[in-house]
Amino acid sequence: MLNAEIVNKDEEIIKLVNDIFKKSVEENASEIYIEPKEKYVRVQYRKDGVLFIPEGYDKIPRQLRNYIVDRIKILTTTMRLEVRLRPQDGKIRLKINGEEVDFRIGIIPTIHGESIAIRPLHNDSYSLDINKIFNDDKSLIDRFKRNLDLKDGVILFSGLSSSGKTSLALAAVNELAKKNVKIITIEDPVQVEIHNATQVNVNLQQDLTFASAARQAYRYAIDVLYMGEIRDYEIAHITLEGGLTGHLALSTMPTQNAIETLFRLSQMGIKEYLTASTVKFIVSSKLTDKICQHCKEEVIYSETELKAIGLTAKEITENTLYKSKGCEKCNQRGYSGRIAIIEMLELSSSMKDAFINGADNKEITKIAKKDGVYYTLADDAIKKLKGGFIDLETARLFTL
Ligand SMILES: [Zn+2]
Repeated sequence: MLNAEIVNKDEEIIKLVNDIFKKSVEENASEIYIEPKEKYVRVQYRKDGVLFIPEGYDKIPRQLRNYIVDRIKILTTTMRLEVRLRPQDGKIRLKINGEEVDFRIGIIPTIHGESIAIRPLHNDSYSLDINKIFNDDKSLIDRFKRNLDLKDGVILFSGLSSSGKTSLALAAVNELAKKNVKIITIEDPVQVEIHNATQVNVNLQQDLTFASAARQAYRYAIDVLYMGEIRDYEIAHITLEGGLTGHLALSTMPTQNAIETLFRLSQMGIKEYLTASTVKFIVSSKLTDKICQHCKEEVIYSETELKAIGLTAKEITENTLYKSKGCEKCNQRGYSGRIAIIEMLELSSSMKDAFINGADNKEITKIAKKDGVYYTLADDAIKKLKGGFIDLETARLFTL
């Protein structure tokens, strides 16, 4: 009896773990969390930015906790089973419904045991398709591509976590990789494999840091360097230095918008003249709810409401605006999928002068707008409102 139970338990765990992965792909989840609670284990998926518990996964018996963790560790082949009190990272490749899918696994010890966060890398969150990322907006795509023709300098991608900035940065690297140039990416860890790029995983245990890998990359006479994220002075400095010495360097920074990125570099200790002489283009992004395209219908807003977010009288009469009431396709939410609200900034010489001379955020923003080099999140939100992709409530988050 006991033996039979143990055999069944092994099979049960293998099936349970497989199902968690399989269902996440079928649901197109961007994240999976397996968390031990005091009395049970809970599985959550994140889809379109919203967390939910898939059916049957709300109360997995707590006794299965370590079995589930161990099964996942075994699948990674690199994680250590006996280590239960330290964070671990790994990767799993599984064949699901005939397609190979990579998952990035992170484990952290919590008061109730090891908690697992899983990110499927097949997912749209790392789609490298710029048409999709820019919602097929030709003028944005052209402006983006034009700036990728830069031979040197620094391009930064800004946005808070889950803002789509990494997708944008990787899409840029992917575009550059189509040209005949030598590219090295240094990431923690590599998010998605890019054909034609040499990709390096940062490994702190082996002293392979962003900075040491970048120094080595510059010696290789590369054309393009992509640094996963500027986190501190050392990474910032070596990235900008690359842009100054004949390379095109790309990286991401966790900031709210393009202009704030310049000031964040100063806060990290980067001299204003170095920022001004290297940073040439900044793209910022924020993901937001897209209205359901199946149940959207025309809606009339008052002129006062529309003027408040910056629409002109002409725009108000010329555009039909939409809102979604909810249908079966969007689970009655009225929203389905996510859309990136984009910001783009090329640095003009008057902006750079003002920045070096200590102008504040407000002044720099004013100059950038005056020089016509700043397409803001508000501009893009209004464009997407007029295009019938977001509703007024969402547009307001970017314009007020
Ligand atoms: Zn709908």
